[in-house]
Amino acid sequence: MKKILLIGGDDVLLNELLDYGDRIGGFDVSRLTDYSNLAAGQFDLVIMDSLAEDISPIAIIKTLAVLSPMPAFGLLMTHEDAGKRIQEAFFQYARAKGIRHTIKLKYPLFFGDMQALISRSEQHKDTQRTKVPLQINTDMLRAAIDQREFKVHFQPKIALKSQHVIGAEALIRWQHPNLGMIMPDAFIPLIEECGLMSEMTWLVLEGALEQVWEWRRLGYDFKVAVNFSASTFSTPGISRIVLDMIRAAHLYPDCLSIELTESAMVQNLDILLESLMELYKNGIEISIDDFGTGYSSLHQVSVIPASELKVDQSFVRDMLDNTVDHLIVRNTVRMAHSLGMRALAEGVETKRHVQALARTGCDEAQGYFYSRPIDEQAFRAYANNNPVREVTRYFNLNKL
Ligand code: C2E
Ligand code: CA
Ligand code: CA
Repeated sequence: MKKILLIGGDDVLLNELLDYGDRIGGFDVSRLTDYSNLAAGQFDLVIMDSLAEDISPIAIIKTLAVLSPMPAFGLLMTHEDAGKRIQEAFFQYARAKGIRHTIKLKYPLFFGDMQALISRSEQHKDTQRTKVPLQINTDMLRAAIDQREFKVHFQPKIALKSQHVIGAEALIRWQHPNLGMIMPDAFIPLIEECGLMSEMTWLVLEGALEQVWEWRRLGYDFKVAVNFSASTFSTPGISRIVLDMIRAAHLYPDCLSIELTESAMVQNLDILLESLMELYKNGIEISIDDFGTGYSSLHQVSVIPASELKVDQSFVRDMLDNTVDHLIVRNTVRMAHSLGMRALAEGVETKRHVQALARTGCDEAQGYFYSRPIDEQAFRAYANNNPVREVTRYFNLNKL
């Protein structure tokens, strides 16, 4: 049964929620009494009437942002037009605070809205699937690395015009023998804390390059994207290490794209710029990840030698019913193009997103609409069953 907390809203709304819950298997809905019940309640979902008296959405968002697990957040708008700009601002604020699953609700509630709300809270649970036990320490992480419990999954990147698969992003998972699959958000901060980040990155890079070689062998001209954290990026001699690994895998540097988040870039620009330049000069592509969440200036973006800008999924997700997000996506695509970069939209979940993105001139897309991140075998099956960019320059070893 889903635990829902309702903040503000009248009895009609409460009854509607309960009614709806009865039809799909039940909600446990409670009303906010004070902040301690919000913090202690472990809710799946918090729905707030934006006109609730005496309570500011900002204060609620601040409280939600420090909860673990963090509930999904729905903001109910009773007036379509009045105060719309202010309500948009609440959403931007929630996102800046790291609340990833937000939804705009209109009063009265509609079946479709409720379904979206439920699926948002499901996805939310999905991303917080497994919590790492607190007793995890450096030795255990070390052992997990040695036992090869970390696996690389691949999510296809698609060219929007041709709808061809053009590559994949490598995303790490921890296949724990007892806990099952642990998602990166749950263990990457620990890896970073224990000083094992670079080691993990080389592992992912090695696995990713192995797959590129395998793809080449099968006739696919796919590029692979690997996520680098700022700490890995500041490793001395990083471009040498990466280039040596590419050479050892019998590949060319242009098969690799390195993703670095906008916020990591901005915070460390002076330190990273030299490595970025070095990699770029050697033919490795740089991609700015989570763009729109890191407060970079136009000047900073223009000096970074990046070829791709990844529009953060929070803007893409809400672009269909949020004019501000639509504007942000459209103008980010324009900005990318005017700086000579490609734009990729992350978090593409529906055909309507694909259509709206195509109209903005966005070049590439990635998201559940095409495929979730999948293991190497499933990725090969995906490539086999979908239109792909084929090898043009490399030998197709199958045909030799
Ligand atoms: P990211 O680099 O922004 O990766 C995209 C995340 O969005 C992935 O989550 C992916 O599964 C998810 N995603 C993709 N399409 C959709 C969609 O349509 N809807 C929704 N709701 N989500 C979608 P994942 O795999 O859990 O990774 C989370 C983050 O962990 C990554 O965010 C990245 O910052 C970090 N990460 C993952 N692997 C590595 C790695 O090898 N090295 C480093 N440094 N970080 C990694
Ligand atoms: Ca990424
Ligand atoms: Ca991203």
